[in-house]
Amino acid sequence: MVDQNANAPPSPHCAAIIVAAGSGSRMGGETPKQFMPLGELPVLAYSLNAFANDPRFTSIIVVCAENWTDTVHHIASAAGVGVITAKGGATRRESVKAGITALQQSEGPRPDFIYVHDAARPGLTQNMLDQLMDALANADAALPALPVVDSMAMIADGNLAQSLDRTHMVRVQTPQAFRAEPLLRAHEIWAGGHEPTDDARLVQSIGGTVAVVAGDERLIKLTHPHDFALFMALTGSTLETKNMRIGQGYDVHKLERGEELWLCGVKLEHTHGLSGHSDADVALHALTDAVFGAIGAGDIGQHFPPSDPQWRGARSDQFLHHALELAKAKGFVLGNADLTIICERPKIGPHREAMRETLAGIMGLEVDQISVKATTTEKLGFTGREEGIAAQAIVLLRSA
Ligand code: MG
Repeated sequence: MVDQNANAPPSPHCAAIIVAAGSGSRMGGETPKQFMPLGELPVLAYSLNAFANDPRFTSIIVVCAENWTDTVHHIASAAGVGVITAKGGATRRESVKAGITALQQSEGPRPDFIYVHDAARPGLTQNMLDQLMDALANADAALPALPVVDSMAMIADGNLAQSLDRTHMVRVQTPQAFRAEPLLRAHEIWAGGHEPTDDARLVQSIGGTVAVVAGDERLIKLTHPHDFALFMALTGSTLETKNMRIGQGYDVHKLERGEELWLCGVKLEHTHGLSGHSDADVALHALTDAVFGAIGAGDIGQHFPPSDPQWRGARSDQFLHHALELAKAKGFVLGNADLTIICERPKIGPHREAMRETLAGIMGLEVDQISVKATTTEKLGFTGREEGIAAQAIVLLRSA
């Protein structure tokens, strides 16, 4: 038996320097684009996750304006990624230099390879990280680039001046990957003059070789507001495969004199109240069953048996809370909930907003994720005769 790993070379140490120092003025607004929400996450989180999910990356440096440092740490901790921040400089070169300095001062292992990436390019894939690493076997640096498909021309005073041959042109993207030594040396000995637009050119200026790998349209640099929608469209297939669960619940309780009437965690004044298990809040019970249903975890009666005296008169918000905690433990959070209360009286409309707000509080959601509707049954059936109130709920859960 041969240990197949016995002769495997040790895994290299890689560091990522993510440049997030731009002010994003072309997007409008106060928040730079790299911190704006993109689908479920801030833009920066996508790149952080891509690097953090690759075990070769032992250090991640984020270069940002000083007043955004707290935001960067907040985004990183929400993503469960440890980062070091460095203060951005006046130019891109200075920002990367600041990242290199922070890397050298850090206690992490000395990296063999350094990747420099724009925070505004969230579409980074493991495949891209691997392609660049493979290319570094034969070059000092490697970058992704895409062919130019449009005709290229120069303009002067708004008029066409000169057509250009696009055959040899490419659109250069990031991340740009480097053997650590030439990148550090290029920054160290940079003699000033015309600012390099990227680090590959800096390494090239000291005689380093730069390999080009096939770029990826998903690495689009978010520049204009419509780029956010474009990115979502380009990556739609991955986002759509996110795990979702749907669940529905239904409950009925009997109306009786002398009982309190609780609906959606709100106490209503009425001639009758609901009797039964706990505080008999049919709306909360229907929602709780919908959540249990979505995660395949049985129903409210199994979790909180009506025969158990500890639940007599209990507030039902704790049942819903428990169901949501179970969902969370299985990796799901609530996307939205839609509830219909079926009764002749009392009128639900005047209490609708209070109910939505109370449910939002119980479920830790925004009010606009919760719908409360009501209908009568035209005086038909047990609800029409005001013998009881029914509620039905539907919920959507999604991967946390
Ligand atoms: Mg019930």
